[in-house]
Amino acid sequence: MDRIRAFLRWMMIDPSHPEVAQAQYNELKTQVPSLYALLMVNAVAVAYTHYDVAPFYLTVGVLIPMLLLTSVRMVAWLRAQRLTPEPEEAIRKLRQTVILGSLIAVIYITWSLSLDGYGGPEERGHVALFIAITVIGCIFCLMNLPQAALMVMIIVTVPYLIYYAMQDQDVYHAIAMNIFLVCLVVLQVLISSYRGFVKLVRSQLEVAAKQKETERLNAENERLAQTDALTDLPNRRYFFNRLEALIDDLEGADRKFAVGVMDLDRFKPVNDTYGHKLGDQLLMDVGLRLKSLEFADIEVCRLGGDEFGILFLGDPEKAAATGQAICDRISEPYRIGDLQLTVGASCGIALYPEAGNTAHVLFDRSDYALYNSKTTSRGKATVYSAEHEARIRSERAVENAMQSADLDQEFQVYFQPVVSLPERLIVGFEALARWNSPVLGCVPPDTFIGIAERTGQINRLTLSLFETAVRQIKMLPGDLCLSFNLSAQDITSVETVDALLEIVSRHDLNPKLITFEITETSVIDSYEAAETCMQTLRSAGVTLALDDFGTGYSSLGYLHRLPIDCVKVDRSFVAGIHDPVASGVITSIINLCRSMEMLCVVEGVEDRNQLELLKALRCNLVQGYHFAPPLPFDEVINSVRASAHVVGLPLSSAEGMEELRLSRA
Ligand code: C2E
Ligand code: MG
Ligand code: MG
Repeated sequence: MDRIRAFLRWMMIDPSHPEVAQAQYNELKTQVPSLYALLMVNAVAVAYTHYDVAPFYLTVGVLIPMLLLTSVRMVAWLRAQRLTPEPEEAIRKLRQTVILGSLIAVIYITWSLSLDGYGGPEERGHVALFIAITVIGCIFCLMNLPQAALMVMIIVTVPYLIYYAMQDQDVYHAIAMNIFLVCLVVLQVLISSYRGFVKLVRSQLEVAAKQKETERLNAENERLAQTDALTDLPNRRYFFNRLEALIDDLEGADRKFAVGVMDLDRFKPVNDTYGHKLGDQLLMDVGLRLKSLEFADIEVCRLGGDEFGILFLGDPEKAAATGQAICDRISEPYRIGDLQLTVGASCGIALYPEAGNTAHVLFDRSDYALYNSKTTSRGKATVYSAEHEARIRSERAVENAMQSADLDQEFQVYFQPVVSLPERLIVGFEALARWNSPVLGCVPPDTFIGIAERTGQINRLTLSLFETAVRQIKMLPGDLCLSFNLSAQDITSVETVDALLEIVSRHDLNPKLITFEITETSVIDSYEAAETCMQTLRSAGVTLALDDFGTGYSSLGYLHRLPIDCVKVDRSFVAGIHDPVASGVITSIINLCRSMEMLCVVEGVEDRNQLELLKALRCNLVQGYHFAPPLPFDEVINSVRASAHVVGLPLSSAEGMEELRLSRA
């Protein structure tokens, strides 16, 4: 029963394989028109041979409507050649073909058997041949629709067999049997080739499905490769690919766009204070805010760390205002758990094609504008300008001069006295680098130190300057302290720190007399590496000072966590000491240092008034033009030799900063 049901289901075109039906239809549409052509030509041939022997209505009268019906179907199939029906439509059409094919078979077999009653053996033989050849031809043409082939075979051969079996001549019995057996064999061959066809279609479908899946996975991989895992924003790779594609598209066209680099302000201290988990959460929240921005023509990517890239695709004139609005939005407070956090954001923008016409140059220019925002106007969006261009050129000149500079010849160390109060004794000197370049003349340290850092020459320069400073301070009488500035790359390099200590021991200088000055910003970027190096220096007995205190993040957390012995209050506070806020800050720092048993040096004392106010605040270490500017060593040593004084002040005999600290405590 089940088999019969399955057979009937198969005969009605199983709807569970619509894609197979679609493929069947596509094959059929190339074969069926030939089938109809064969049918018509053969029918006309039979009608022709029977024209004289059979009645006119049978040869011509019936033939014409038969031919008309067949031609209509043939044209319908020819038209279908250009179309690929949807799978469901294909099933419907195949069913239609089985039914119409059966109907046409009924008409043709009835017509041809009706003709058999007329004419002699030749005409009858022609009919037998017509039926036999035509049915085999039709079965072949219906190869891809075995249901229709089977129906046609049954409809044609069963009446044919019965009809010829009833004839009294053996030759007709034999012909009928012959045709029947041939049809059976042909049908068997067709069914097995149809199975092969179905298998092939299914495997092709599987391959196509696999290919589609592979393409989907590839697309997903590509998307992931261009997406930042933490914020789900497009990543650095996407940013540069997109930037390059934009430049390629716009080359030669009169269209512009802008590239922005945005960096969070104060993100590092948040990360250091609250841990990386919270830092990540904060970055995710920043990412969400960036995704929810309402500007239509921008694309924001995370480049890494707390750095984001922005492509301004709209009017470049508006890029600065949009960049500023983004910075402002990012600077609004964040709530993470019980904490409310605020980070700022600064942005640098470069316009295409004015600032550059390659991805690399545009990015560098926007990064340079960002650097300017960070150093001079935090929280602002800065557009790369002609002024920046000029500055880059002069920095390049400094870079070039530095590459070829003879460090020992061209660089000098100047010494600025550090004075103790109220005694007004010189307890030591801060060594400050000076560069008199034969190409550029005097270049200020603020310029060349930064460039030496960027070009990777700072460690070499530091060691050369320190060697000179140590050698020279040793030439002064007594135990004077030497304060020496280290840059970020010095304080994070184990090799440099070891080399510095080697110089101290080679010159047989008491490490207690050495103070290394570092700034907060130099430590923040690589906190762990800096802390390790600072511990090494500390265990060797040298003093560590936090320079320019009050200008960076001035996080009290750093004062606690870093192995610091001394704080140097930035000179900007002394400049405004008459303002109650500035003097309040100095007082607080002095008191804080006292309670933490740290030394406190106030820098930038320029006049008597400032000095008196500092004395009143019980400040006991000062430095500034009021006493002396940084002096060349020759001047210092000549003055000491002549009067045992420098700029009128006697030299202290206290043993290093450590002793000073103990005596103050
Ligand atoms: P700093 O370490 O804070 O040095 C103090 C700066 O203030 C020096 O500028 C000094 O000349 C200046 N100064 C001293 N007293 C006064 C004053 O009363 N009023 C004013 N307005 N300024 C005063 P200088 O020598 O131009 O150095 C600038 C910065 O360059 C230094 O700031 C330091 O960060 C860096 N630097 C200098 N030499 C070196 C060095 O050998 N290595 C490293 N890594 N950095 C150095
Ligand atoms: Mg300093
Ligand atoms: Mg300073």
